[in-house]
Amino acid sequence: MGLQDLIRDVPDFPRPGVTFKDIGPLLADPAGLAACIAALAKPWRDARLDAICGIESRGFIFGAAMAQVLETGFVPLRKVGKLPPPTIGVDYDLEYGSARLEVGAQGLRPGARVLLVDDVLATGGTLAAGRTLLEQLQVELVGASVVIEIDALGGRARWPAPLPLLALLHC
Ligand code: AMP
Repeated sequence: MGLQDLIRDVPDFPRPGVTFKDIGPLLADPAGLAACIAALAKPWRDARLDAICGIESRGFIFGAAMAQVLETGFVPLRKVGKLPPPTIGVDYDLEYGSARLEVGAQGLRPGARVLLVDDVLATGGTLAAGRTLLEQLQVELVGASVVIEIDALGGRARWPAPLPLLALLHC
């Protein structure tokens, strides 16, 4: 069974018209989870990363596991109001409404080599917000990894082309 088979498509969740990519079966499968983390980490082995920034909440699962494999730190990018001050944040638009992503102002030193991680790339707004946030901290963003890229939504267009954006699975 391939990794793709461990992703469950849930039609019309959380609202009509959206096909939710449920990573639950992947997380519950010991061999699948191990293979997924190894494959996510592999391209970055020689990237001399200092930290992985995972986006709340499913980016925490994959990002923290990758950080252990790659022997880097892990810094969470969190939804509004979760982190104690001092924080810096960025507001961004969702398909309906808006959201804010925050990071602890002391978690990353300027110049740190950082990888951004999330579970799904859909319209690309979340990953773009993460990038904007890290730019404010003056870290060196080395690239991004996601488990699943929903090609039809075109989110990759919102990511600056020269910077690597790796997706393990495409759908
Ligand atoms: P976007 O900003 O549109 O690229 O959305 C990416 C973020 O929303 C990720 O943090 C995902 O966890 C979540 N997300 C968006 N669309 C989906 C989907 N179809 N299935 C699962 N998660 C999704």
